[in-house]
Amino acid sequence: MNTQEFYAQITEKMIHALESGTAPWTRPWKVTGDGAPVNALTGKPYRGVNALNLSWHALSMGEPDMRYATFKQASEKGWKIRAGAKGIPILKLVTVTKKNEQEENPQKSDLLIPKVYYVFSARDLEGVAALEEKPKPASWSGKAEDIRSKLSSTLSVSVGHGGGRAFYSRSDDRIQVPLEGNFENEEAYLGTLLHEFGHATGHEKRLNRAFGVYGDSVYAFEELVAEMTSLFVGMSTGITPDDKHFENHAAYVDSWIQVLEKDKKALVRASKQAQYACDLLVVNL
Ligand SMILES: [Zn+2]
Repeated sequence: MNTQEFYAQITEKMIHALESGTAPWTRPWKVTGDGAPVNALTGKPYRGVNALNLSWHALSMGEPDMRYATFKQASEKGWKIRAGAKGIPILKLVTVTKKNEQEENPQKSDLLIPKVYYVFSARDLEGVAALEEKPKPASWSGKAEDIRSKLSSTLSVSVGHGGGRAFYSRSDDRIQVPLEGNFENEEAYLGTLLHEFGHATGHEKRLNRAFGVYGDSVYAFEELVAEMTSLFVGMSTGITPDDKHFENHAAYVDSWIQVLEKDKKALVRASKQAQYACDLLVVNL
């Protein structure tokens, strides 16, 4: 598989999920061990579109095991790949040296280009140690209220409660959400908060993303980033945000599909932005 095929495949997968109401953020994120996909050898979490694709794979298999390894890594450790096991494609940036021969003094320059690699689930690797339950960090409780007050103070974004809508105002750098009691449950309240904090990371004094205007593709892209931020924060912290929140998702689905259909790299870019947003939120938790 080349990179273009990877972009096309993951985009098709996401469009299908959106159309059938099974986008990755519609599922409760309860897993044993690591909540996010990690490399079985190094323990390093996969990021961006790889985190999305691998967690998707794990959930579709009904697997709580989020550990993956390449064929080479498995061989190094003496792990055997089960017969019939299928590798899952991931994107990796590799360095290639480009030589410019046009000039009198040819200079070499290093370029980073994406390349497709395959990894195998730990469930398909014989010899991998059993999955262990990982303790949650002691520094935070996982309670929506604590997460709200912590992010609000560390990012200096005020959160107002009341009314029937949830939104982030970029001009005021302020979040407004309904009272917690108006949400179906704490997870739904948390999902909304993380989505809105996701938007707040895009403010010009933070990650400075373009917000667009309601109805345009930039706006739809930003909504995708915010939703994936909520998903990624849930994955990397083990907390379980729910997508049943107060922004009207049904209205976004069509615009997301349009954005994805138009640009096969949009999902990779949105995953990358969401990963940066997630990093900023998690470091402040
Ligand atoms: Zn939003």
